Amino acid sequence: MQYIDCKKYSNEILEQVKATPNKKALTILTVGDDPASKSYVKGKIKDCEYCGIPYEHFQCEDDTLIWNIHNANRNEDVSGIIVQLPLPQGMDEQFYTNQVIVTKDVDGFKHNSPFKPCTPEGIMYILEKELGDLTGKTALVIGRGKLVGEPITKMLIDANCTVTVAHSKTKDLHGLLGLHHDIVITAVGKPNLVNLKWCSANVVIDVGVNRDENGKLCGDCYNFDPDDGSNMKVTPVPGGIGLMTRAMLMKHVARI
Ligand code: NAP
Repeated sequence: MQYIDCKKYSNEILEQVKATPNKKALTILTVGDDPASKSYVKGKIKDCEYCGIPYEHFQCEDDTLIWNIHNANRNEDVSGIIVQLPLPQGMDEQFYTNQVIVTKDVDGFKHNSPFKPCTPEGIMYILEKELGDLTGKTALVIGRGKLVGEPITKMLIDANCTVTVAHSKTKDLHGLLGLHHDIVITAVGKPNLVNLKWCSANVVIDVGVNRDENGKLCGDCYNFDPDDGSNMKVTPVPGGIGLMTRAMLMKHVARI
């Protein structure tokens, strides 16, 4: 097994963004003090600074978020708006993300957004770089969530792959993993779900972001063994799909 160099791929995109002239701003709106949300915002600000994208970050109150969204919707110097999730309990995330005008929905959350959702778009970028044309390839997608599993399944079908989807009611995940797939994608959010030693694939994309029993960041896959003699390629966590998601967001803000 070996790791896929997602840093290299995300840098390819960030360099294109950096070289793009006349970029408009990203508005980031946060409410509350969720630690994961804070770290995502930090990453986005770092990327904006690297790419030369102007940004503004407003820490809002529950009752000022809507005003800030509408303000950014009207601001002609702003090309993208992020309502950073998760919002505090009791705030309807779909309601607020829906308030973002579709032309500035750089997360690609709305059904009529001109942008693809960043995480699946980042996954497709890696798959095409690693495997070339995906026509006829077989894929096992584990997870059917609205953010990742469902849209990546659609994108793979559109790219002419043959796709199997597993979820919490799937009876024999172990058995499915034992079959050969060109692509395995795990988008579940459970550490130690997929033992890479059970897995037979050319490329494994680990989307999961979890904490292990020692509080360390980890994906859904475990037992990565660089000395097992196989050619299987796996995305790391951290430093994998998270970087690709961030890079795609910058690409959307820069309108390239
Ligand atoms: P989600 O909406 O909660 O979906 C999780 C999916 O996993 C569901 O479809 C669920 O099945 C399935 N599942 C649960 N237990 C399972 C099991 N034992 N075996 C097989 N499938 C199982 O989650 P999400 O929003 O898609 O996110 C998934 C993971 O990706 C999370 O760790 C999240 O943090 C991470 N993520 C990372 C990025 C990034 O940029 N790196 C971006 C987005 C998400 P049912 O449908 O049957 O309930």
